[in-house]
Amino acid sequence: MTYFRHNIEQMSGYVPGEQLIGTNIIKINSNENPYPPSPLVLAALRNLDGELLRRYPEPMAGRFRTAVSAALDLPSDWIIVGNGSDELLGVITRACTSPQRQIVCPMPTYVLYRTLAQIQDAEFVEIPYDDNYNLPLEEIIAANGAVTFIASPHSPSGTVVPLDLLDKLAAQLQSILVIDEAYVDFAAEDALELAKKHDNVIVLRTLSKGYSLAGIRLGFAVANPGLIAGLMKVKDSYNVDAIACIVGVAALQDQAHKNANAEKIKTSRATLASELQKLNFDVCPSQANFLLARSPHGNAEYLYHSLKTRGILVRYFPQPRLEDKLRITVGTDEQNAQLVKALAEIMG
Ligand code: PMP
Repeated sequence: MTYFRHNIEQMSGYVPGEQLIGTNIIKINSNENPYPPSPLVLAALRNLDGELLRRYPEPMAGRFRTAVSAALDLPSDWIIVGNGSDELLGVITRACTSPQRQIVCPMPTYVLYRTLAQIQDAEFVEIPYDDNYNLPLEEIIAANGAVTFIASPHSPSGTVVPLDLLDKLAAQLQSILVIDEAYVDFAAEDALELAKKHDNVIVLRTLSKGYSLAGIRLGFAVANPGLIAGLMKVKDSYNVDAIACIVGVAALQDQAHKNANAEKIKTSRATLASELQKLNFDVCPSQANFLLARSPHGNAEYLYHSLKTRGILVRYFPQPRLEDKLRITVGTDEQNAQLVKALAEIMG
């Protein structure tokens, strides 16, 4: 006897990165930004007006939407705001997929895509990347799902799909192509032009990574007004709270703060990659704020547990093609140095 639909009963549910509470924990498992958000954000929070909390928030996150529209130089009807970009992935899934309408993903990828398919009872079609994370373009086109999710920069590898390939894919697909740019603030280029050029492209962004605001839950999607209007029908009435909107406006005003942190992280990323290589890890070329590193002895699970014992949390994925690797968020230089020291000790 169950009260749930069959697919809900069968699925195990998304497991987010662990949280270890403690003062000396080095938490580099969820790709959070190691630096605090802009001082403008903290000032906006200190100056909050209680009146704002008494009322329901703006249904379409109006002021934040306007700020995004100004930042991207696009009309606001090209933008939908979400309670994190995760919520928008859910909105897209609910709007476009069903048991008869498949989701297609090159694999491995962000684990939530599969979870959303399971909740929706939509078939999830996996198309493997090769070992260098080259996009399996022809196979994705042939699969022709109702929605194709591509993370670029990709998680968990940090690699990017060249824009000309995404352009080709968008032109060939008869259906929605979601380009998930959660990590774009650490990358060399972005796909926004493709959302303007193709009426089936949705570009997804978040304030969780580059803007150091994972705790606020704020993201947005960019697509042509026809698509945005369809997604608006599916979202909750007041999906983004008033505090998130105020904070988001302040964060967007301080591009210099976000860019300076991104530059620091990119420099630390290069240093950390070369330190890991000195320990004989094989490191994927990353344009994100994390590194996927293959352990020289294939003992990634052991390394994960040993690091955890020392208060260092990294991400380990017990799944095919990832079980010999660790995904490590780029932390502060001090945190990265402690990680490398711990790994050197554990590996003897
Ligand atoms: N897309 C990818 C590829 C991610 O790794 C994440 C972060 N876990 C998200 C989307 C979700 O980001 P958020 O919901 O914090 O905006």
